[in-house]
Amino acid sequence: MPRIAIFFDRDGVLNEEVGHIAKASDLRVYPFAAEAVRRVNETGVLAIVVTNQSGIARGLLSEASLKGIHDRLEEVLDFGGARLDDIYYCPHHPEYGTPQYRRVCNCRKPNPGMLFAAARDHEIDLTQSTFVTDRHREIAMAQMLGLQSVLVLTGYGRSEREQQGYVNMPRPDLIAEDVLHAVQSIVSGMSREKPNVAARKATSADRATCWSSRSTHGEGAR
Ligand SMILES: [Mg+2]
Ligand SMILES: [Zn+2]
Repeated sequence: MPRIAIFFDRDGVLNEEVGHIAKASDLRVYPFAAEAVRRVNETGVLAIVVTNQSGIARGLLSEASLKGIHDRLEEVLDFGGARLDDIYYCPHHPEYGTPQYRRVCNCRKPNPGMLFAAARDHEIDLTQSTFVTDRHREIAMAQMLGLQSVLVLTGYGRSEREQQGYVNMPRPDLIAEDVLHAVQSIVSGMSREKPNVAARKATSADRATCWSSRSTHGEGAR
């Protein structure tokens, strides 16, 4: 039985957006983040972080320091009774860094690689899942993949929302003051109503077509 997840962008959602965070002592976890993640834990839905960390490619931090930062994040959340089921990060950048990290990858958001990896690793139905972020380009990614999307007004969120009238921006399913308000709405929506079955089915059917046409294509090429 496929599982459901709430995916969180990290910076500007669970912790303050302060540019590249290079060490654990620079991490400022929002005071409401633990409660938000704990609510997710209580519903039996997966709580998963997906974060671009091109600071690694740029030489601003190592993968070891990132692990230290994530240990710290999990420690702070644990103190509030909350737990992340997984953390995915992209260390790459298309233009900067050593050859090891300088590449056009499929994992750097808004590319879908991290969501696909999580879906595979945890047997997640993405079309029943939700993505919470402070960036419009990630809202667009979530919508393309059939996830619900929530824009939070922390981090870049408020200025992203202000641009909404000027540019042809994607419309998130929900705009929330912060990640706690986001989770409260998502969770109460889950218990109150069944998702729009017709719309969801159309989405998964489209995806299935997309996948099978790709694999047919692959077989034809062999
Ligand atoms: Mg962010
Ligand atoms: Zn990557």
